[in-house]
Order: sequence, then C-alpha cells, then structure tokens
Amino acid sequence: MTDHIEDSPIKKKNRGGQPPNSIWEDINKGEAVGSGKFATSCKYCKNTWSHSEVSKLEKHLSNHCPDAPAAVVRRYMTKVMEQQDKSKSSKKRKYSEG
Ligand SMILES: [Zn+2]
Repeated sequence: MTDHIEDSPIKKKNRGGQPPNSIWEDINKGEAVGSGKFATSCKYCKNTWSHSEVSKLEKHLSNHCPDAPAAVVRRYMTKVMEQQDKSKSSKKRKYSEG
C-alpha cells in the first residue's frame, strides 16, 4: 500500500481582499429571528427586513436603495451582475490576465 500525499496548492484570489460578507458593512444585523437568520436594516435608507436574505440585500443596495452612496451602489451592481453572468453561462470563459 502506498500513502500518497495530496498536493494542496494555495489558491490566490485576485479580488482585492474583501471579505465575502462585506454586505454587513452596509447592512445592520439585528436580532436573530431563526436558525442563522437575522433581522436586518439598511444603514443608508433605514429600510428594514424581518429576515436576512443576502441576495435580496445586495439587490436593494445595487438598485433600490435611495440613499446609498454611488460607490456602494456600483460595488453591488457589479456583484449582482457577476452573479447573473455566472448563472447564465456555466462555461468558463478564458480571460487573459495581464
Ligand atoms: Zn437602503
């Protein structure tokens, strides 16, 4: 029997180092309302939700929030568009990175 050691190369992410849950920089997390769910409110327009659905919150910030700063709106717009793009095309596109 042979023990072979699996290689686990460290994948570098080329994404500027933002944490995946950065939505919480723009959304207030409130009381827990269930298993893993929280009441949430928008830091900008004071909109509130009884439960947190991150995709919904992202859409709010990208499109519906009347008071979010332009930079924030743009950030979430890009995010939502990327997600739509991903779900549209399951094929990997070749991007030549410089
Ligand atoms: Zn808002």
